Amino acid sequence: MLRESNVIYKKRYSLSVAIAYPSLYNVAISTLSFHMLYFKLNEYSEVYAERVVYDKPSSGNGFVSIETSKPLSKFDAIFFSVHYELDYVRLVRMLISSNIEPRRRKRRKPLIIVGGPCVTSNPYPLFKIANVIGVGEMEGIVPEVIEALIKGGEVEDELAGKRGILIPDHIGKVERYWLKDLNNAWSPTLHVLPKEGYEGIYGRAFLAEVSRGCTNMCLFCLLAYHFCPERRKDLAKLKREIERGVELNDVKSVALISSNYPSDSYGIDLLNFIVRDLGLNISIPSIRIEALNESVLELLREGGQRIVTIAPETGNEGLRFLLNKKVRDEEIFTVLKNARKLGFRAVKMYFMYGLPREGKEDLDSIISLVKKVKKLGFNDRNSIRISINPFISKTGTPFQFADLDSYEELLLKRKYLYERLSGDPSIRLSGYSPRDAIIQAIISTGNEEVGDLLISWASFGTGIGNLRKAMKTYGIKNWNELYGRYAKKSPLITKFPRLEKVWNDFLSKEL
Ligand code: SF4
Repeated sequence: MLRESNVIYKKRYSLSVAIAYPSLYNVAISTLSFHMLYFKLNEYSEVYAERVVYDKPSSGNGFVSIETSKPLSKFDAIFFSVHYELDYVRLVRMLISSNIEPRRRKRRKPLIIVGGPCVTSNPYPLFKIANVIGVGEMEGIVPEVIEALIKGGEVEDELAGKRGILIPDHIGKVERYWLKDLNNAWSPTLHVLPKEGYEGIYGRAFLAEVSRGCTNMCLFCLLAYHFCPERRKDLAKLKREIERGVELNDVKSVALISSNYPSDSYGIDLLNFIVRDLGLNISIPSIRIEALNESVLELLREGGQRIVTIAPETGNEGLRFLLNKKVRDEEIFTVLKNARKLGFRAVKMYFMYGLPREGKEDLDSIISLVKKVKKLGFNDRNSIRISINPFISKTGTPFQFADLDSYEELLLKRKYLYERLSGDPSIRLSGYSPRDAIIQAIISTGNEEVGDLLISWASFGTGIGNLRKAMKTYGIKNWNELYGRYAKKSPLITKFPRLEKVWNDFLSKEL
């Protein structure tokens, strides 16, 4: 039995809504938007919003809500929050195993609403499944949807043409919704947290949003292009939110959510406040190398962080600069030298292979960079944690025009890196397989036919064996054929000439 704090129970309401997360419970409770939706929807007296997650709990009736074990099929509407391409098949599986028709045109109810960064970037794979697709940030989209639902009638007709809302049968230009002032962002003071048995990715922490977007605009980065322009929350307001949130949720940790954690006085002041004034532990899931100066590292260490995480992306400084990640090798070594001196036990580094314009020497540069890092004193077992992933192109970024290497080339590159980096007990390797990268790429750049494939896949189950069964029904024999049939077909890819110019500049610049 799952025991949680701050759960909402309601007896009187006219609209029942499920907030469905097609991934694990501990990932859901570590996702700020999940808490945002839960508390915001339940502010409406007419609405009762309950949560449904992929791993907990389910029964013979398919998926049921955490709050009251209500079957997913009995809700009036389901809001799916999708953060990752490999969650798409689980979304469809949640519908099928709950006896909900996955095809929008054949379904009478419930109404399916889907949002999240991947969906904003390329909504087409969900055209045949979702009734309403959120394009952009939820603060301007969810109230429109919920008010239309409360009003009743033809919800899709009512919502068609509104900013940030895409109705697949009313296709026209949809303008992405973004909040001008981040101080108006939804900031739930309460979080639903498990009392025992489960921990979120950041432990038992209060999640506080610092900023959205990133000025670096790395050419492959979905977050930078889809949450632009960069916006920050007012520091005094954020401090009040954290103080109150920590007290009301009775937690001793804060996780700061930001794709570009501020490296100026704002960032230091905030860390000082959390670590020294409030005496709390701190976690910053994503922080740029340039922001990790000595003061920041010292505060992170004091706030309980033991591992420093950086994302050089490639070992070749020249290619790194062309990607717009303007960080010199020397800066990386300085940060890690300081981290070691301050007592950080391990470093986690993210790299990509299969990048456009990449050569064999770029793979060698990853190996040489890792070896230099080891010489800085990261010698203990598993003290260098390398996440090496194939590059995946995302619609809406300049690299939407790039092709993935073939499956065999990716396998060879991976083998080359693994053979040279594994075997050293201080180095631990992880990352997506080339096969997972191809699946992600067809979802992030495909058109509505990907929806048919997802439905077929989910009708068998969710694993790779079931995807193979679905591929067989379409006569697709291997991963390259899968990529060739579906990738880069999204109609959005031809709609942004500005991105094409950036892509051509990248191809023509000297390396
Ligand atoms: S620095 Fe990180 S968040 Fe910013 S654009 Fe580059 S990859 Fe994206």
